[in-house]
Amino acid sequence: MIRLNDILDRALSYNPEADLEVVKRAYVFSAKVHQGQVRLSGEPYLVHPIEVAGVLTDLRMDVDSIGTGLLHDVVEDAWTDLEQIERIFGKEISFLVDGVTKISQISFSSSEKKQAENLRKMIVAMTKDVRVILIKLADRLHNMRTLEYHEEDRRVKIAQETRNIYAPLAQRLGINWLKSELEDLSFMHLNPERYYRLAKRIAKSRKEREKYIEEVEGIVKGILTKSGVPAEVSGRSKNLFSINQKMEKYDLDFDQVYDIIAFRVMVGSIKECYQALGIIHSHWKPVPKRFKDYIAMPKANGYQSLHTTVIGPRGERVEIQIRTEQMHRVAEAGIATHWKYKEGKVIQEKGDWEFAWLRQLLEWQQEVPDASEFLDTVKIDLFPNEVYVFTPRGDVKEFPRGATPVDFAYSVHTDIGNHCAGAKLSGKIVSLKTELKNGDIVEIITSPTKSPNRDWLRFAKTSRAKAKIRQWISRAERERKSALGRELLEKDFRKHGLNLSKLIRSGEVKRVARERNYKEVESLIVAVGTGVIPPSQISKRFVRAEDFQSEKASALQKVLRKPAKRSPTAISIKGVDDIMVRFGKCCNPLPGDNVIGFITRGRGVTVHKTDCPWALESDQERRLEVQWDLREQSVRPVKIKVVCVDQPGMLAQITHSISSVDVNIQHAKIQTTMDKTAIGIFELNVRDTSHLRSVIRSVEKIGGVISVERLGA
Ligand code: MN
Repeated sequence: MIRLNDILDRALSYNPEADLEVVKRAYVFSAKVHQGQVRLSGEPYLVHPIEVAGVLTDLRMDVDSIGTGLLHDVVEDAWTDLEQIERIFGKEISFLVDGVTKISQISFSSSEKKQAENLRKMIVAMTKDVRVILIKLADRLHNMRTLEYHEEDRRVKIAQETRNIYAPLAQRLGINWLKSELEDLSFMHLNPERYYRLAKRIAKSRKEREKYIEEVEGIVKGILTKSGVPAEVSGRSKNLFSINQKMEKYDLDFDQVYDIIAFRVMVGSIKECYQALGIIHSHWKPVPKRFKDYIAMPKANGYQSLHTTVIGPRGERVEIQIRTEQMHRVAEAGIATHWKYKEGKVIQEKGDWEFAWLRQLLEWQQEVPDASEFLDTVKIDLFPNEVYVFTPRGDVKEFPRGATPVDFAYSVHTDIGNHCAGAKLSGKIVSLKTELKNGDIVEIITSPTKSPNRDWLRFAKTSRAKAKIRQWISRAERERKSALGRELLEKDFRKHGLNLSKLIRSGEVKRVARERNYKEVESLIVAVGTGVIPPSQISKRFVRAEDFQSEKASALQKVLRKPAKRSPTAISIKGVDDIMVRFGKCCNPLPGDNVIGFITRGRGVTVHKTDCPWALESDQERRLEVQWDLREQSVRPVKIKVVCVDQPGMLAQITHSISSVDVNIQHAKIQTTMDKTAIGIFELNVRDTSHLRSVIRSVEKIGGVISVERLGA
């Protein structure tokens, strides 16, 4: 636990002229007010304001802010009020205490409209005096550090608010360490299982990681020194929240230490930043499109650095940030780097306020008197992962980035979604696939003949739209199968001189349905339409056996049975045997892929992946549900493409690694390019997708391999 003396020492260390009297008085006052109060942890309440004041010294704040940190909770108490604070500590501190108290009363889990208004309040408080929000952030940080003492639902609420509002704010203010800690703490409380699993794995790989970091640091330092650019090089793990985000974004599992480390190169001047970049790029091949120049184009919060990714000594991707010491201070401390102390007081001159974003907010706040309009502008800026669009009536709707008119249509009404045909974005007609942009006015064009199809699932982003589309598709499919089943049954019954409708009315078909465990006749008909039951099996229940023998097989059976060769594949079509199965050459499905079958007259059933463009386009009437029969062991051919560094022994390593996971290579083709890269196409036989994944994983592990992907999928 931090003590008052530590706080005083720290405040003096960055501001030697600080008048600490006010901090000492605030401490005494706070101790008196909070006397006898305890926190949920059982500690005396005073611990909390002291810790908050400590965080404020980490942020290099002035004495008034530190004093406010000590006093920030006293007004909550019955026997003090703002007037008293002002009398004892002056106008400035009472203004800050008031600001923090008000922000603390803002709830961000209320309705959307209320939330918007509350966010505006906070932004206004912040633009009046940014110290208010920094004190609030310090308060929130200590509360997050001691969150485990709260009840579950309260904990989740606070953690969500921290992740959604306070961590992005810290980022916007450029205070990297604070942002990272808030993110990790909220991650820990919102998804403890995943958090601890990740933390454990990272702890386990520490030795390996340290060895790797040392290796890369040594090389970079060496090549820079040799070229006359002295530099400090260091590698560190990213924070758990970012690692998890990256894993979720790319849907990968971290098993390589490289993925979680970023390297930092610190040099003396801007010129040396670019020199260092050149030297590193001439030593290690840069990954295309990964270079970013934040020196020439700083981020809104003032952040500057060069970012690049190169292929490192083990053929792995290495992320490197190059910056000067001054840039580093800005990157870590953000807005606090810009505090200037004069006679012990912090001064914020408009002129040297380098935070474009806050400056802008301040201007907007003055220019835009309308609350909701102001808010929309701010929200767009604070939450870059969302888009805000307008309805024709001017209401604001919020969507995840990448959302399309389909999402918008379903957010208005299910019927509008189910019949949307196109959209106008700010007056211009666009296709349903077009991504919404901030500020678009969205108008949906509907048509009674239009209905959802599987393709829509690829560009709908909200879960609501996706669920509704799936619902529609499965209902339509059932109707189609029912119609097909009825048709097949009628035909077959007619051949035997039977009348289906009559037998349904008399209840006899229902009896047969019950025998087969279907509650309704309808379900039986759908089963026939799906291909689960051949229609002849139903009709034979109504004719004498000898008559039946002479009957020819039904139309569907003919299609299915013609080349009466048992397929060697692992596809099963619910209950139907003897079907010739072929696989679409376009997508070449493997066991484990989601698949769909199509009846092809005379050629049996062709199986495609459900997301294969061909399957999406072709005649929906011929669809047949199929699934992998995993009891049947077989292998299927598949091609993979391996891009790697062109160096001796590479091919041997790759082939060895492929056979080590029990896979036969049918064919291989290697091509080298001018820039010392080799591209190999390998044709393999694998059992299923997970078998293929293990091949890909094991090849990826080889040093020098840049990428591995499945082809024709
Ligand atoms: Mn507090």
